[in-house]
Amino acid sequence: MNPSRESQPLLIPLPTGDTLGSTLADRARSREEEYLFRQELERRRALEVKAELTKLQAEQEFQAAVREAQRQHHWMHCPKCGGELCEIDHGDLCIDRCETCEGVWLDAGELDQLLQREGDGLLGRFLRRLRG
Ligand SMILES: [Zn+2]
Repeated sequence: MNPSRESQPLLIPLPTGDTLGSTLADRARSREEEYLFRQELERRRALEVKAELTKLQAEQEFQAAVREAQRQHHWMHCPKCGGELCEIDHGDLCIDRCETCEGVWLDAGELDQLLQREGDGLLGRFLRRLRG
């Protein structure tokens, strides 16, 4: 090492006069620009999230409309031939019967109600085979 360099004090130039003022002004401007930049980023992110939510909501509304249109189109129509279904009251059950192909259709839970009603008789055993 060079001994003459070790003994020299470390000199850091200090800003003076207009230089200090302009340095502080530059830092303030830089902080303000950074603040405005972050504000703009947050505003854009909020707009993106809002646009995504609007898109999702529109998709959900479209899917609900499609399901409703399908339900109305198929409501009380035979799944086998497309004929009109009529309801036949059978005690506390309302069984759907096709007027075209004479197919008989049970709604959810109606087979279980028939099974409870019929017990272990011939019809009950037959319905249990249908149920699996
Ligand atoms: Zn039918």
